Amino acid sequence: MKVGIKLKFWGVRGSIPTPGVKYTKYGGNTPCVEMRLSNNKLFIFDAGTGIRELGSMICSGDEKIKAHIFLSHFHWDHIQGLPFFMPSSIEGNEIIILGMDMQNARLDKIISDQMESIYFPVKLQSLSAQIKFQILSEGSNNIDGVKVDTIYLNHPGQAMGYMVNYGKIKICYFTDNELVPKSVTESSKLKYKPDTRERILKLINGADLLIHDAQYTEEEYKTKIGWGHSSFNEVLSLAREGRVHRLALFHHDPDHFDEEMDVLVASCNCQEYQGETSHVMDCFAAHEGMELHF
Ligand SMILES: [Zn+2]
Ligand SMILES: [Zn+2]
Repeated sequence: MKVGIKLKFWGVRGSIPTPGVKYTKYGGNTPCVEMRLSNNKLFIFDAGTGIRELGSMICSGDEKIKAHIFLSHFHWDHIQGLPFFMPSSIEGNEIIILGMDMQNARLDKIISDQMESIYFPVKLQSLSAQIKFQILSEGSNNIDGVKVDTIYLNHPGQAMGYMVNYGKIKICYFTDNELVPKSVTESSKLKYKPDTRERILKLINGADLLIHDAQYTEEEYKTKIGWGHSSFNEVLSLAREGRVHRLALFHHDPDHFDEEMDVLVASCNCQEYQGETSHVMDCFAAHEGMELHF
């Protein structure tokens, strides 16, 4: 069997879904990334509104599935699609939800609370599929035979980044992470761990793909310090330093419609970055429906 990974973006928008004609190119669904390993394992990253369509696609076949859903954190845009993930309602399916515990709430409680009758008509306990939970903290984990490294990211209330190591393939999913520029670190009162960037760099070194939050322009970031998201520039410089091969800009700002996104991506000027070192990096903005193969 040839070791490989197929990846598909089902939602790339940050903060809130953005339906409408101004968002048809990049898409309006909130974060969800599907990962298929060549050993048939199904990993899903985040359960934003994009997971609904992924679920419908899965249910169009009759096969029973086992899916691992890795949650970066529990802000609405990352869990809002979970109650609409149809495979959870089918007997014989096995869904494992993975993520961190919060200081005052356990993972299973966070998710079942989301489906309390005030918020949603169907309770988690009444779903027909077998639903399991697996709590993760920072470190190296064996998930169904696959090595998945986890790391805490800079985000209000914290978020978790994931790196899948499969064969020689390394894919990183780091969203809702604020890469704090040096000039800001010194002057700000941010409560983030000061070494987050270094720890991330160690992990992503030479990765085949880095999917990273790039919500703001440098200018926008100045008024959003501490909101837990990064500027394009900081992400590019991190990826270049980590010598990653492909960089997918992700978690697009709801105010960045298609035309604006095109301008922003063009202004990233990846060519310039390539020129500075011998390292060549393929940099692009993820869009809904985009597929990548490794
Ligand atoms: Zn988010
Ligand atoms: Zn968030």
